[in-house]
Amino acid sequence: MSKCGTTINRIFCFGRNYLEHIHELSNAVPTVPLIFMKSPSCVVEPGEPIHFPKHGNELHQEVEIVVRIGREGKAATEKDALVLIDSISVGLDLTLRDVQDTLKKKGHPWEIAKSFDQSSPLGTFVPYDESVDLKNISFGCKINGVQKQKGNTRDMMFSTAQLLVELSRVWKLLPGDIVYTGTPAGVGPVKIGDIIEIESDLTGSFSWSVVD
Ligand code: ZN
Repeated sequence: MSKCGTTINRIFCFGRNYLEHIHELSNAVPTVPLIFMKSPSCVVEPGEPIHFPKHGNELHQEVEIVVRIGREGKAATEKDALVLIDSISVGLDLTLRDVQDTLKKKGHPWEIAKSFDQSSPLGTFVPYDESVDLKNISFGCKINGVQKQKGNTRDMMFSTAQLLVELSRVWKLLPGDIVYTGTPAGVGPVKIGDIIEIESDLTGSFSWSVVD
């Protein structure tokens, strides 16, 4: 699928990668990264309206640094992992928290809470090379101009490179795969009429309005 100035293949996401966010949702601290996926059809380009999903009530924004894989391979080490990345962006992992809470209690998969239509708003990608320090990227999210989330990748529990090594245990990574690397604290409800703006010091800012 061609979106956000690039080709998007699979979307891998990591949950619970920032300690303060784990605490705000009273989740257990993972000993291995928690992986889930979204469909590439969930991507929303900057500026497209986001329709509030009809199958839940509590829509949360989660701003995350996103990396894109540029070449096929499996990363055995963190050094191998960095070579696979070709670009970086910032994105939203939109989540229906009330639906997810019900699924968690039943021990059911998360797709309808995480991988619904328009659940993956994504900024434009900027090229990555090794001059970029993946362990020191500042990023954040404002709703209606009010700062809700502020994070830095230095606070990740598992680094981006470690996340790619973890994925490689299960999948051969392919060009166009993108990886959401987890959200810092400050997730919260968004409503119809809100404007969500996300930014990082590498990419600049992108925004979306939430509509009926
Ligand atoms: Zn997330």
